[in-house]
Amino acid sequence: MPRHAYVNGRYVPHGDATVHIEDRGYQFADGVYEVITIVDGHLVDEEPHVDRLDRSLNELRIAWPVSRRALGFLMRTLIRRNGVRTGIIYIQVTRGVAPRDFRFPKGAEPSLVMTTRHMTFGSPKLMEEGVSVVTIPDIRWQRRDIKSIALLPQALGKQQAAEAGAFEAWMVDPDGTVTEGTSSNAWIVTGEGVLVTRPATNLILNGITRLRILKLAAAAGLRYEERPFTVEEACCAREAFISSATTFVTPVTRIDGRSIGNGVPGSLASALRADYLAFVGEAVPA
Ligand code: PMP
Repeated sequence: MPRHAYVNGRYVPHGDATVHIEDRGYQFADGVYEVITIVDGHLVDEEPHVDRLDRSLNELRIAWPVSRRALGFLMRTLIRRNGVRTGIIYIQVTRGVAPRDFRFPKGAEPSLVMTTRHMTFGSPKLMEEGVSVVTIPDIRWQRRDIKSIALLPQALGKQQAAEAGAFEAWMVDPDGTVTEGTSSNAWIVTGEGVLVTRPATNLILNGITRLRILKLAAAAGLRYEERPFTVEEACCAREAFISSATTFVTPVTRIDGRSIGNGVPGSLASALRADYLAFVGEAVPA
Protein backbone atom coordinates (compact mmCIF):
# COMPACT_ATOMS: atom_id res chain seq x y z
CA MET A 1 0.00 0.00 0.00
CA PRO A 2 1.58 3.36 -1.01
CA ARG A 3 2.22 5.95 1.68
CA HIS A 4 -0.38 8.70 1.72
CA ALA A 5 -0.29 12.30 2.86
CA TYR A 6 -3.32 14.20 4.10
CA VAL A 7 -3.71 17.49 2.19
CA ASN A 8 -6.69 19.71 2.89
CA GLY A 9 -9.34 17.04 3.11
CA ARG A 10 -7.79 14.46 0.77
CA TYR A 11 -5.53 11.46 1.21
CA VAL A 12 -3.03 11.72 -1.64
CA PRO A 13 -0.15 9.37 -2.58
CA HIS A 14 2.87 10.91 -0.86
CA GLY A 15 4.81 11.52 -4.05
CA ASP A 16 1.91 13.42 -5.64
CA ALA A 17 1.02 15.59 -2.63
CA THR A 18 1.37 19.30 -3.42
CA VAL A 19 0.28 22.71 -2.15
CA HIS A 20 -0.35 25.88 -4.11
CA ILE A 21 2.65 28.14 -4.91
CA GLU A 22 0.91 31.01 -3.13
CA ASP A 23 0.43 29.12 0.09
CA ARG A 24 1.63 31.52 2.78
CA GLY A 25 3.65 28.73 4.35
CA TYR A 26 5.67 28.49 1.16
CA GLN A 27 6.10 32.26 0.73
CA PHE A 28 6.33 33.61 4.29
CA ALA A 29 6.77 30.57 6.57
CA ASP A 30 3.38 31.74 7.86
CA GLY A 31 2.43 28.57 9.63
CA VAL A 32 3.00 26.23 12.54
CA TYR A 33 3.61 22.54 13.01
CA GLU A 34 3.76 19.62 15.41
CA VAL A 35 5.59 16.32 15.43
CA ILE A 36 4.01 13.57 17.52
CA THR A 37 5.71 10.27 18.21
CA ILE A 38 3.88 7.06 17.46
CA VAL A 39 4.86 4.05 19.55
CA ASP A 40 3.14 0.75 18.96
CA GLY A 41 0.36 2.56 17.12
CA HIS A 42 -0.21 5.04 19.99
CA LEU A 43 0.25 8.80 19.87
CA VAL A 44 2.61 9.81 22.67
CA ASP A 45 1.40 12.81 24.71
CA GLU A 46 -1.21 13.67 22.07
CA GLU A 47 -3.13 16.04 24.34
CA PRO A 48 -0.24 18.40 25.19
CA HIS A 49 0.96 18.36 21.56
CA VAL A 50 -2.48 19.44 20.36
CA ASP A 51 -2.63 22.03 23.16
CA ARG A 52 0.66 23.46 21.91
CA LEU A 53 -0.65 23.49 18.34
CA ASP A 54 -3.67 25.42 19.60
CA ARG A 55 -1.40 27.88 21.38
CA SER A 56 0.85 28.38 18.33
CA LEU A 57 -2.20 28.98 16.12
CA ASN A 58 -3.68 31.47 18.59
CA GLU A 59 -0.43 33.39 18.93
CA LEU A 60 -0.31 33.84 15.13
CA ARG A 61 -4.08 34.33 14.81
CA ILE A 62 -4.43 31.42 12.39
CA ALA A 63 -7.79 29.66 12.60
CA TRP A 64 -8.08 25.94 13.25
CA PRO A 65 -8.42 24.25 9.82
CA VAL A 66 -10.72 21.54 11.27
CA SER A 67 -12.09 20.98 14.74
CA ARG A 68 -9.78 19.55 17.38
CA ARG A 69 -11.91 16.42 17.47
CA ALA A 70 -11.68 16.05 13.69
CA LEU A 71 -7.89 16.43 13.85
CA GLY A 72 -7.70 13.48 16.24
CA PHE A 73 -9.77 11.40 13.85
CA LEU A 74 -7.76 12.47 10.76
CA MET A 75 -4.44 11.71 12.46
CA ARG A 76 -5.59 8.22 13.41
CA THR A 77 -6.96 7.57 9.94
CA LEU A 78 -3.67 8.55 8.30
CA ILE A 79 -1.63 6.50 10.75
CA ARG A 80 -3.81 3.43 10.12
CA ARG A 81 -3.84 3.96 6.36
CA ASN A 82 -0.06 4.15 6.31
CA GLY A 83 0.30 1.22 8.69
CA VAL A 84 2.62 3.10 11.04
CA ARG A 85 3.29 1.25 14.30
CA THR A 86 6.39 3.20 15.32
CA GLY A 87 7.36 6.56 13.87
CA ILE A 88 6.06 10.09 13.73
CA ILE A 89 3.17 12.11 12.41
CA TYR A 90 3.96 15.60 11.10
CA ILE A 91 1.13 18.14 11.20
CA GLN A 92 1.42 21.53 9.51
CA VAL A 93 -1.09 24.35 9.44
CA THR A 94 -0.54 27.52 7.42
CA ARG A 95 -2.62 30.65 7.02
CA GLY A 96 -3.62 29.38 3.59
CA VAL A 97 -3.44 30.44 -0.04
CA ALA A 98 -3.74 34.10 -1.04
CA PRO A 99 -2.16 36.61 -3.46
CA ARG A 100 1.25 37.55 -2.06
CA ASP A 101 0.83 40.38 0.46
CA PHE A 102 2.32 40.61 3.96
CA ARG A 103 -1.02 41.59 5.48
CA PHE A 104 -3.29 38.76 6.59
CA PRO A 105 -5.63 37.79 3.75
CA LYS A 106 -9.36 38.08 4.26
CA GLY A 107 -11.28 34.87 3.79
CA ALA A 108 -8.33 32.52 3.18
CA GLU A 109 -8.88 29.01 4.53
CA PRO A 110 -6.00 27.66 6.62
CA SER A 111 -4.19 24.71 5.01
CA LEU A 112 -3.72 21.43 6.86
CA VAL A 113 -1.10 18.95 5.71
CA MET A 114 -0.10 15.76 7.51
CA THR A 115 2.49 13.12 6.74
CA THR A 116 3.72 10.07 8.61
CA ARG A 117 7.05 8.35 8.68
CA HIS A 118 8.20 4.98 9.96
CA MET A 119 11.07 5.45 12.38
CA THR A 120 12.85 3.61 15.12
CA PHE A 121 13.96 5.45 18.23
CA GLY A 122 17.15 5.42 20.22
CA SER A 123 19.91 3.47 18.52
CA PRO A 124 21.85 1.45 21.13
CA LYS A 125 25.10 3.02 19.86
CA LEU A 126 23.90 6.55 20.66
CA MET A 127 22.80 5.38 24.08
CA GLU A 128 26.10 3.66 24.84
CA GLU A 129 28.32 6.47 23.63
CA GLY A 130 26.14 9.55 23.96
CA VAL A 131 26.23 12.28 21.30
CA SER A 132 28.33 15.37 20.61
CA VAL A 133 26.99 18.87 20.40
CA VAL A 134 28.59 22.06 19.14
CA THR A 135 27.57 25.51 20.30
CA ILE A 136 26.53 28.26 17.90
CA PRO A 137 25.01 31.74 18.28
CA ASP A 138 21.23 31.77 18.54
CA ILE A 139 20.23 33.94 15.59
CA ARG A 140 16.48 33.33 15.83
CA TRP A 141 13.59 35.71 16.51
CA GLN A 142 12.17 36.50 19.94
CA ARG A 143 9.11 34.23 19.72
CA ARG A 144 10.76 30.84 19.91
CA ASP A 145 7.86 29.65 22.05
CA ILE A 146 5.75 29.45 18.87
CA LYS A 147 6.35 26.23 16.93
CA SER A 148 6.66 28.12 13.67
CA ILE A 149 7.71 26.52 10.39
CA ALA A 150 10.32 29.31 9.98
CA LEU A 151 13.22 26.94 10.66
CA LEU A 152 16.08 28.37 8.60
CA PRO A 153 18.33 29.15 11.62
CA GLN A 154 17.75 25.60 12.85
CA ALA A 155 18.52 24.11 9.42
CA LEU A 156 21.75 26.12 9.23
CA GLY A 157 22.66 25.10 12.78
CA LYS A 158 21.98 21.42 12.24
CA GLN A 159 24.03 21.49 9.03
CA GLN A 160 26.89 23.16 10.89
CA ALA A 161 26.69 20.45 13.55
CA ALA A 162 26.69 17.71 10.92
CA GLU A 163 29.72 19.23 9.18
CA ALA A 164 31.51 19.28 12.53
CA GLY A 165 30.63 15.61 13.05
CA ALA A 166 28.18 16.47 15.84
CA PHE A 167 24.64 15.26 16.39
CA GLU A 168 23.12 18.56 17.50
CA ALA A 169 23.95 22.25 17.86
CA TRP A 170 23.14 24.09 21.07
CA MET A 171 22.20 27.68 20.40
CA VAL A 172 23.61 30.36 22.67
CA ASP A 173 22.20 33.80 23.42
CA PRO A 174 24.49 36.87 23.60
CA ASP A 175 24.65 36.56 27.43
CA GLY A 176 26.40 33.19 27.04
CA THR A 177 23.45 31.06 28.13
CA VAL A 178 22.32 28.04 26.16
CA THR A 179 18.80 28.44 24.84
CA GLU A 180 18.14 24.99 23.33
CA GLY A 181 19.14 22.60 20.57
CA THR A 182 18.08 23.20 16.98
CA SER A 183 15.39 20.54 17.45
CA SER A 184 15.64 19.60 21.11
CA ASN A 185 15.73 21.03 24.63
CA ALA A 186 19.01 21.18 26.52
CA TRP A 187 19.63 19.80 30.02
CA ILE A 188 22.52 19.43 32.44
CA VAL A 189 23.04 17.76 35.79
CA THR A 190 25.16 19.75 38.24
CA GLY A 191 27.93 18.39 40.44
CA GLU A 192 25.36 18.30 43.26
CA GLY A 193 23.06 16.10 41.15
CA VAL A 194 20.51 18.82 40.35
CA LEU A 195 18.74 18.60 37.00
CA VAL A 196 18.77 21.97 35.20
CA THR A 197 16.90 23.14 32.13
CA ARG A 198 15.99 26.57 30.87
CA PRO A 199 12.57 27.93 31.93
CA ALA A 200 9.88 28.00 29.25
CA THR A 201 9.81 31.67 28.25
CA ASN A 202 9.63 33.26 24.79
CA LEU A 203 13.29 32.28 24.32
CA ILE A 204 12.73 28.54 23.86
CA LEU A 205 10.17 26.10 22.57
CA ASN A 206 8.51 24.42 25.52
CA GLY A 207 9.15 20.82 24.51
CA ILE A 208 6.43 18.32 25.25
CA THR A 209 9.16 15.81 26.08
CA ARG A 210 10.71 18.47 28.36
CA LEU A 211 7.41 18.82 30.22
CA ARG A 212 7.06 15.05 30.52
CA ILE A 213 10.62 14.70 31.86
CA LEU A 214 9.95 17.38 34.49
CA LYS A 215 6.89 15.41 35.61
CA LEU A 216 8.87 12.15 35.69
CA ALA A 217 11.69 13.86 37.62
CA ALA A 218 9.22 15.21 40.17
CA ALA A 219 7.60 11.79 40.53
CA ALA A 220 11.04 10.23 41.10
CA GLY A 221 11.82 12.82 43.78
CA LEU A 222 14.74 14.29 41.79
CA ARG A 223 15.91 17.82 42.50
CA TYR A 224 15.48 20.11 39.50
CA GLU A 225 15.75 23.78 38.65
CA GLU A 226 14.35 25.66 35.67
CA ARG A 227 17.00 28.29 35.05
CA PRO A 228 19.38 29.33 32.27
CA PHE A 229 22.89 27.85 32.25
CA THR A 230 25.99 28.93 30.37
CA VAL A 231 28.13 26.90 27.98
CA GLU A 232 30.88 27.00 30.60
CA GLU A 233 28.60 25.55 33.27
CA ALA A 234 27.48 22.85 30.84
CA CYS A 235 31.04 21.90 29.99
CA CYS A 236 31.80 21.45 33.73
CA ALA A 237 28.54 19.65 34.48
CA ARG A 238 28.35 16.07 35.69
CA GLU A 239 25.98 15.13 32.86
CA ALA A 240 24.23 16.67 29.90
CA PHE A 241 21.44 15.47 27.65
CA ILE A 242 18.87 16.54 25.09
CA SER A 243 15.18 15.81 24.83
CA SER A 244 12.65 15.81 22.01
CA ALA A 245 9.81 13.77 20.57
CA THR A 246 12.25 11.83 18.39
CA THR A 247 15.36 11.63 20.60
CA PHE A 248 13.45 11.08 23.88
CA VAL A 249 16.30 11.49 26.39
CA THR A 250 19.68 11.27 24.65
CA PRO A 251 22.90 11.73 26.64
CA VAL A 252 25.41 14.35 25.50
CA THR A 253 28.99 13.34 26.18
CA ARG A 254 30.90 16.07 24.29
CA ILE A 255 30.29 19.80 23.95
CA ASP A 256 32.55 21.61 21.45
CA GLY A 257 34.91 18.63 21.69
CA ARG A 258 35.15 18.78 25.51
CA SER A 259 34.22 15.67 27.44
CA ILE A 260 31.28 15.95 29.85
CA GLY A 261 31.54 14.24 33.25
CA ASN A 262 33.58 11.11 32.73
CA GLY A 263 32.84 11.05 29.01
CA VAL A 264 30.13 8.42 29.07
CA PRO A 265 26.34 8.76 29.44
CA GLY A 266 25.43 9.80 32.97
CA SER A 267 23.36 7.77 35.40
CA LEU A 268 20.59 10.37 35.77
CA ALA A 269 20.14 10.70 31.99
CA SER A 270 20.02 6.92 31.70
CA ALA A 271 17.47 6.66 34.52
CA LEU A 272 15.29 9.39 33.00
CA ARG A 273 15.47 7.71 29.63
CA ALA A 274 14.30 4.46 31.20
CA ASP A 275 11.43 6.32 32.92
CA TYR A 276 10.51 8.00 29.65
CA LEU A 277 10.55 4.68 27.76
CA ALA A 278 8.30 3.19 30.43
CA PHE A 279 5.94 6.14 30.04
CA VAL A 280 5.92 5.83 26.25
CA GLY A 281 5.12 2.12 26.54
CA GLU A 282 2.12 3.06 28.61
CA ALA A 283 0.86 5.78 26.23
CA VAL A 284 -2.89 5.85 25.69
CA PRO A 285 -4.06 3.61 22.83
CA ALA A 286 -4.94 5.43 19.58
N1 PMP B 1 13.22 22.96 20.83
C1 PMP B 1 13.14 23.07 19.50
C2 PMP B 1 13.70 24.27 18.84
C3 PMP B 1 12.53 22.04 18.74
O1 PMP B 1 12.43 22.16 17.41
C4 PMP B 1 12.05 20.89 19.40
C5 PMP B 1 11.46 19.75 18.63
N2 PMP B 1 10.34 20.13 17.93
C6 PMP B 1 12.15 20.82 20.79
C7 PMP B 1 12.74 21.87 21.49
C8 PMP B 1 11.62 19.65 21.55
O2 PMP B 1 10.22 19.65 21.57
P1 PMP B 1 9.38 18.31 21.73
O3 PMP B 1 9.86 17.67 23.01
O4 PMP B 1 7.97 18.75 21.82
O5 PMP B 1 9.68 17.47 20.53
